[in-house]
Amino acid sequence: MFRFTTIKDYHNALLNGTTTCVDAVRFYTQSIKDQQHLNAFLEVFEEEALAQALALDNQRNGSIQGKLHGVVVALKDVICYKGHKVSAASRILDNFTSIYNATAVEKLLAEGAIIIGRNNCDEFAMGSSNENSAFGAVKNAADETKVPGGSSGGSAVAVQANMCMVSLGSDTGGSVRQPADFCGVVGLKPGYGRISRYGLIAYASSFDQIGIFGNNIEDVALTLEVIAGADEYDSTVSTDAVPEFSELLKTEDKKYRFCYFRQAFENASLDVEIRTQIEVFMKTLTDAEHSVEIVDFELLDFIVPVYYVLTTAEASSNLSRYDGVRFGYRNTANSADLSDMYTNTRSEAFGKEVKRRIMLGNFVLSAGYFDAYFTKAQQVRQLLINQTDQLFNNYDFIILPTSPTTAFSFGAHKDPVEMFLADIYTVYANLVGIPAISLPLFRHQNNMPFSLQLLASRDSEVSLLCVSQNLLHQKRDR
Ligand code: GLN
Repeated sequence: MFRFTTIKDYHNALLNGTTTCVDAVRFYTQSIKDQQHLNAFLEVFEEEALAQALALDNQRNGSIQGKLHGVVVALKDVICYKGHKVSAASRILDNFTSIYNATAVEKLLAEGAIIIGRNNCDEFAMGSSNENSAFGAVKNAADETKVPGGSSGGSAVAVQANMCMVSLGSDTGGSVRQPADFCGVVGLKPGYGRISRYGLIAYASSFDQIGIFGNNIEDVALTLEVIAGADEYDSTVSTDAVPEFSELLKTEDKKYRFCYFRQAFENASLDVEIRTQIEVFMKTLTDAEHSVEIVDFELLDFIVPVYYVLTTAEASSNLSRYDGVRFGYRNTANSADLSDMYTNTRSEAFGKEVKRRIMLGNFVLSAGYFDAYFTKAQQVRQLLINQTDQLFNNYDFIILPTSPTTAFSFGAHKDPVEMFLADIYTVYANLVGIPAISLPLFRHQNNMPFSLQLLASRDSEVSLLCVSQNLLHQKRDR
C-alpha cells in the first residue's frame, strides 16, 4: 500500500520504482472517498489528477523533474486554479470558474505538483471553526464531534487524514495556524509579502497571506521555496531572492533567545493544561541552554478589537465586488431594478457571518466613526509594529499558544464575539506581518492535539523553520 512520509522519501521511492505518481493519486482519491463524511473537499479533480500522474510517470525516465514532481496538493477554495470552480465556500460564487491561476498555483504546477481538489473552508475565510461554510462544516478527524478549526479547516483535515501530501490555506488572522493546532499538523503563515496574493480571493488585503499545511517541516519548507517570491501582479511581495528553504534546514546546535508574553500566559481564557504543558516545555528549552524570558505585552487586550475593526473595514471594500453582475449568483426573479437586484443577490447569497462583517466594516468606515475606530485601530497597529521591532532586537523568537483551548464541539460558541476572542494568540502575527508557525508538539489529556506557536521577525522564515525542525526532531527522539 502507498505510504507517505516526506516528499523526499516519496521521490526516492519513485526513483527506486517502488511507487508511482499514479499509485499516489489513487491512494489519495480513495482516501478522500473513504472519508467523505469529514467534508474536507468541495470537489476532487480525480480524472485530471490521474492523467497528470500518468504523464509524470511516463516522462520521468530515471530523474525527478521539478521540486514538487508528483506531489499531491489540495487548495483551500479561495485560491484560483484556472478552468476550475472557486467558491470561497459561498453561494455568491455559485458556478464561478477561475479564469486564471493564482501565482502560487502557477508555481506549483511549474514544479510538477498535482492538484487534487478544492478544500472546504469558512465562507470568505471568515471564521474559526468551519461552521460558516455554505457547504456544511468540516469534521476533525481526531474526534468527529469536534470542529477542525477555521477558516482553512478542510485543508488542515486533508493533511491530518491523509488525503493529500501538503495543502495550501490562507491566514488572515490565524486561519492556517489554528486549524493546524486543532488537527495536529504543521501550519505555517509566512511573513506578509513572502507569497504573492495574486489569485487569492481577498478577505483583508493587508493581512491575507497564503499558508502551508504539512506533516513535517521539510515538506513545508520545500513548498514555501516553490511558491514564494516576487510577482509583477502583487506589488506587496518582497523582491528579495527567495532563500532555498529546504536546503537551509540544518539541524544546528545554536542557542536561541526566546521570550513569551506574561499577559498571554496569564490570560483567563487559556486552558490550564495548555499553559502548564507549554511551561514545562519552556523548561526543557532552558535545560538545553536556550534562554527563555518573560516580557510584558500590555497591548494584548487590544489586538482582537483592532484586528476586527481593520479586517472588517477591508472586507467591506473587498466584498463589494460581489454584486450579482460580475460573478456567480444573481437574483433576477423578484428584482424590479438594479438596486433591488444587488440587495436581493447579497441578502440571499451571503451567509450570516459575512453579512455581519460587511456591516461592521461599513460602520467603522462611516464618516461619523472613522476616526474613532478605523484611524485609532491603525494607530494601535503601528504601535504594535514598533514594539515588535524592538522586541526582536533582544529575542530570536516569541512563544505563544496557538489557541486558548483545544478543538471545541460544534455549536459551542453561540456568541460570535466569544469566537472572535479565541483569536487572541493568532491575529498578532498578521497585524505586524511577521511569520509564525504552529508546531504539533502536545497532546491534551482530553486526547486532542495542540501546538506551540513560534513567531519570528520579518524575513526570518529560515531560522523559524530551522528551529521548528529541531524542536520536532527532539520531540520525536524523546
Ligand atoms: N478566525 C479569524 C477570523 O475569523 C481568522 C480568519 C482568517 O485567518 N482567515 O477572522
